[in-house]
Amino acid sequence: MRAVVTGGAGFLGSHLVDRLVKEGWEVVIIDNLITGSTENIAQHAGDNRVKFIKQDVTEFLFIEGPVDFIFHFASPASPVDFVRFPIPVLKVGALGTHKALGLAKAKGSKFMLASTSEVYGDPLVSPQSETYWGNVNPIGPRGVYDEAKRYAEAMTMAYHNFHGLDTRIVRFFNTYGPRMRLDDGRVVPNFIKQAILGEPLTVYGDGSHTRSFGYYDDILEAVWRLANTQFFEPVNIGTTEERTVLQFAKLVIQITGSKSEIQHLDAAIDDPKQRKPDLTRANRLLDWHPTTSTEEGLRKSIDYFRQKLNTSAS
Ligand code: NAD
Ligand code: UDP
Repeated sequence: MRAVVTGGAGFLGSHLVDRLVKEGWEVVIIDNLITGSTENIAQHAGDNRVKFIKQDVTEFLFIEGPVDFIFHFASPASPVDFVRFPIPVLKVGALGTHKALGLAKAKGSKFMLASTSEVYGDPLVSPQSETYWGNVNPIGPRGVYDEAKRYAEAMTMAYHNFHGLDTRIVRFFNTYGPRMRLDDGRVVPNFIKQAILGEPLTVYGDGSHTRSFGYYDDILEAVWRLANTQFFEPVNIGTTEERTVLQFAKLVIQITGSKSEIQHLDAAIDDPKQRKPDLTRANRLLDWHPTTSTEEGLRKSIDYFRQKLNTSAS
């Protein structure tokens, strides 16, 4: 089997590449490194089963030879990047998805879109099931990401319905773990870094908004299982262990044994107030349940970030 992984030098994409190689696949990674790093794929250097192409996926994609599966994971994913790179975020979700689908059609490949819980926007129902249509502000700072992913889902379904492409859409909820960037700006690397360095943990607003944090290992097991189905409707993947951001900050302080305090900053604009997946569909379809507790996943991530901080300090 031969796969193309767009965004394969990023956090989730690079772990997916590892998994595919472990399963005996050949992999072509396409990544322009806007938020990724070749460090994440350095373990495959010299392995002729893994090829890296540094390219923007919004440009025409040319891949020699057969391609069995395209995993379209390219896109900045941190809210900080939605403000730093608003147009690249829109372009990769829209034009990049179109190019990736075009490549899948030309090669007769199966296809998976990495979508997001952000398609639900600031949800008015909780937990969010796949049948909920969402509550998105198209012109707010998150609109560039949310709308691009909603467009990407629409485009993927159009290729499925009109061209008969064998597609899948996974809606990831907050996922974390090793290989997230120290300066990624998302809450998990922010809090862990701040706790290790003894700096205040920056909670935006009163910290009452909730998230459910999934460990990458569990999440990628679900991706692998979904890849092996022919289910084309969206599937939520995440964990139902929901916490407020304030509770999460306290947990990070407790597990790191840090003396850091909590500092409340201005609330983020359009910050979803609650986020928790309804995982019924994933549970039934994939016979899958996340098995890593937030405490366990955090411990492993903290070990990784400690090492990273030591390396960057020396
Ligand atoms: P990441 O930023 O670590 O990885 C994204 C990768 O895509 C990077 O390597 C980046 O360089 C690459 N990329 C971005 N634009 C590109 C372009 N135009 N051409 C080529 N490469 C490009 O982020 P991640 O957390 O690994 O997210 C991976 C995917 O999963 C994204 O599509 C994201 O929207 C989705 N997702 C992630 C989460 C999460 O919590 N991690 C949640 C929901 C959805
Ligand atoms: N957040 C925070 N402090 C930070 C970073 C994030 O309080 O330093 C909050 C953010 O406002 C949101 C939650 O943590 O409510 C998760 O933010 P993240 O950036 O990880 O991603 P999101 O789930 O908002 O896409």
